[in-house]
Amino acid sequence: MDTARSALAASIPALDSPMAGAFRGRHILSIKQFDRSDLAHVMRVAHQMRVTVDLVGSIDLLKGRLLANLFYEPSTRTSSSFNAAMKRLGGDVVSINEVRYSSVAKGETLADTIRTLESYVDVVVLRHPVVGAAAEAASVARKPIINAGDGAGEHPTQALLDLFTITEELGRVEGLNVTLCGDLKYGRTVHSLARLLALFGVPLKLVSPESLRMPSAVRADLTAMGATFSEHDSLEPVLGASDVLYVTRVQKERFDDVAAYEAVANAYVINRDVMAKAKDKMIVMHPFPRVNEITTEVDSDPRAAYFRQIEYGLYVRMAILAMVLGRA
Ligand code: ASP
Repeated sequence: MDTARSALAASIPALDSPMAGAFRGRHILSIKQFDRSDLAHVMRVAHQMRVTVDLVGSIDLLKGRLLANLFYEPSTRTSSSFNAAMKRLGGDVVSINEVRYSSVAKGETLADTIRTLESYVDVVVLRHPVVGAAAEAASVARKPIINAGDGAGEHPTQALLDLFTITEELGRVEGLNVTLCGDLKYGRTVHSLARLLALFGVPLKLVSPESLRMPSAVRADLTAMGATFSEHDSLEPVLGASDVLYVTRVQKERFDDVAAYEAVANAYVINRDVMAKAKDKMIVMHPFPRVNEITTEVDSDPRAAYFRQIEYGLYVRMAILAMVLGRA
């Protein structure tokens, strides 16, 4: 088995290509850092990671390397998938998931916290409630910072795993009709994903309540990239043509006013009746956690891709870590 593991590690294409060097030691702060050839590369490595995990479970590619998971906001999937990804590559993890038990609670700045953690580890995965926090951390860091969500800003690694989900499930991304539905204002995953899909010329349908429209900065980027998109209040007119329906949670924690949240909380609920109007061959995605947006009766529908999407996140995060840290 050890021989199989080494052979697999040696066969991961990305790590020897010139492209691998392009990511080594780099911060991952925004999806805007990626062009199409970078994305193709991430998809190739992630696929290789999928095969590797399937065959041997783990390899020693990052043996001796350490990652810090620094989370100022709750997380289940992002923190545990980075944790699992690092361990499946033979590395280890230092976790600060509850900053209230760290010196942050004593008033320590983000910069000092980052400088401290990077003294111990090789890469820092950061989730923070403030837009731009990852970029701020990167400005003081010597080691790579990976943005695991900065407030209502971006969530670039989620967009990469969303792309991987689409390509693994549907075989391509070009030529698909993608609908993003829910809280497009505060949902950071759709800010990253919309920009990523624009690179592929994917026409986007943006479905949200009026008060939760896609922010103008994202729309301006889409326009500058020549993307076609349209905005809608209702899912009904666009559902039947959607190859991908990407549903998001209304981001309760970003609202100052509970009444304003409650007014839009259940704006869209995907249930069996809604699915009856969708194509036979399409997928439903969600970055999770879901609250009420998709009923559990949809879970057994083969088009419900969200649990598979969670698994794909592991392979994509393995790819990102391998590329940022390079070969040990
Ligand atoms: N888990 C995703 C995020 O951190 C989506 C969500 O929280 O609704 O952005």
